[in-house]
Amino acid sequence: MARDYYGILGVESNASDQEIKKAYRKLARKYHPDVNPGDEEAAEKFREASLAQEVLLDPQKRRVVDMGSDPMEQQGGGGAGGFGGGFGGGGGLGDIFAEFFGGAGGGQGRGPRSRVQPGNDALLRTGITLEEAYAGMRKTVTVDTAVLCDRCSGSGSASKAKPVTCTGCGGAGEIQEVQRSFLGNVMTSRPCPQCQGFGEVITDPCNHCGGDGRVKKRRDLTVNIPAGIGDGMRIRMADQGEVGHGGGPAGDLYVEVHTQKHPVFERDADDLHVSVRVPMVDAALGTSFPIEHLDGETFDIDIEPGTQPGEAIELDGKGMPRLRTDGHGKLYAHVDVVVPTNLDKKTKEMLEQIRDKREEATKVQSADDNDGEGFFDRLRDKFRR
Ligand SMILES: [Zn+2]
Ligand SMILES: [Zn+2]
Repeated sequence: MARDYYGILGVESNASDQEIKKAYRKLARKYHPDVNPGDEEAAEKFREASLAQEVLLDPQKRRVVDMGSDPMEQQGGGGAGGFGGGFGGGGGLGDIFAEFFGGAGGGQGRGPRSRVQPGNDALLRTGITLEEAYAGMRKTVTVDTAVLCDRCSGSGSASKAKPVTCTGCGGAGEIQEVQRSFLGNVMTSRPCPQCQGFGEVITDPCNHCGGDGRVKKRRDLTVNIPAGIGDGMRIRMADQGEVGHGGGPAGDLYVEVHTQKHPVFERDADDLHVSVRVPMVDAALGTSFPIEHLDGETFDIDIEPGTQPGEAIELDGKGMPRLRTDGHGKLYAHVDVVVPTNLDKKTKEMLEQIRDKREEATKVQSADDNDGEGFFDRLRDKFRR
């Protein structure tokens, strides 16, 4: 079972790194073992939050999470060593301080991070009509993401020269510092400001991308939206996300599809619901009437003689196309019986004749009339569909 890393931190799945760090800090202050001595539950929450932060701030691990897997499970539990450096012993608040100084997460002598980083995934939301969800479609979307700088081919260097070792950190990518805290001296490390932690610098940065190896660019993409797509589903377009720093491989683009409300049809998973107003006489005698479906095709709905208000006519195969299997869901036509008003003299006389003939009386309903169901049961059934 994949852990819900976003849920642990209480952030949305599109949260920025800043939001993730902020959420983590809040939890860390609350649950840190130094603040809750001997509280195992708090310690566990602290461990969880630390792990969630580490995973979500790592673009590659985060991508694994977004694909529904657990990056830490694949590495065999303790292997990833996120919170390894430990509290309980001597670590104390220094660990938190180290995290607060930012950087590539933990600072346990990891050395410089690679200048060529995999790109982030990108998310784009698009709206479609229910007709489009029914038929499926190809849709052009405009994306605004980082692409490879064509001037330097992603190298970041104007002359395409190799980067040189940073003089600020000697290539280590980080600078060690001793922090004084009320618990004593704490060793922390932070990314080298001269090379941003890469351990190497570009001497003649490309003036098109500023040495980043990538530039923002707007482009059009065609997305295949399958028939029957559900509201809020995401379509993954491999390698169409952001190109990474230093020309690293692009992440994926996720297109989140939202369906607009339809004036006639209401969708419930694979089923469709429609409300029909049937004149009292048609409900009594039965009728058939045409209805235009989402694909523009017209078909007939049969109203059986004696159809009652609130009855639902079930039509197999007239619902939404099923996404993962063949066929369609059901269409439910909910009958609303319309009683005539503004009767002219002639109609009134005819209805009076019917009344005399039928000798039906208005009466209080008892549970015996409806298979033992009470009034509120029936009311509830009517509203629950
Ligand atoms: Zn440096
Ligand atoms: Zn460039």
